[in-house]
Amino acid sequence: MDKKGLLIVISGFSGVGKGTVVKRLVQDYGYSLSVSATTRAPREGEIDGRDYYFKSKADFMNLIDYNGFIEWAIYVENYYGTPRAFVERELAAGHNVILEIEVQGALNIKNQYPDAVLIFLTAPSASELKERLVGRGTEDPAVVDKRMKRAAEESADMDQYEYIVVNDDLDQCVKDVNSVIVAKGCMIEKNMEFMNQMKAELQAL
Ligand code: 5GP
Repeated sequence: MDKKGLLIVISGFSGVGKGTVVKRLVQDYGYSLSVSATTRAPREGEIDGRDYYFKSKADFMNLIDYNGFIEWAIYVENYYGTPRAFVERELAAGHNVILEIEVQGALNIKNQYPDAVLIFLTAPSASELKERLVGRGTEDPAVVDKRMKRAAEESADMDQYEYIVVNDDLDQCVKDVNSVIVAKGCMIEKNMEFMNQMKAELQAL
């Protein structure tokens, strides 16, 4: 069966553990992960080309001008964008590609790729979310506040997603997200070509 890959969009509040969940999905199930470009400064331990392509604002603007992104957005004063070439190449090769992006980008993707599956990850409660963000220790308190405010804004768009998964237990969350993706890939409308071929083959027998 020769199929185009699925585009999988994973969003969630800052601090919910998206990065960890996505890494596990790549490791355990072999999804392709799109590496975004950003103008944000690298956090300790982050590597250019692995975690993000870290860009100056001028370089980022240049990439926008050259249609280098399938989507981009501003999140808490920094630019983030999904490089076009990797995604298009991987989908054409039949690979399932994960984009770990925020809400505006996700809705933009849904407009351009109606077949994309949109999954929202959340913590079990708002207080748990704040605890994780503070506990991570990578942001100073002012940034934590901004990110919590942004989470409150983003919660308004949660119902634009098709699936919501709670990240309480990591292993369970990874399994649940994978189940959602597998189910999406099995939908009748995603398999029209295959079904028509089966029908034709059966009739020819
Ligand atoms: P962080 O600074 O914590 O790495 O990311 C901040 C937010 O930007 C997260 O919600 C993350 O999902 C989102 N993000 C990362 N890359 C992209 C991207 O390419 N496009 C969009 N729209 N959002 C992104």
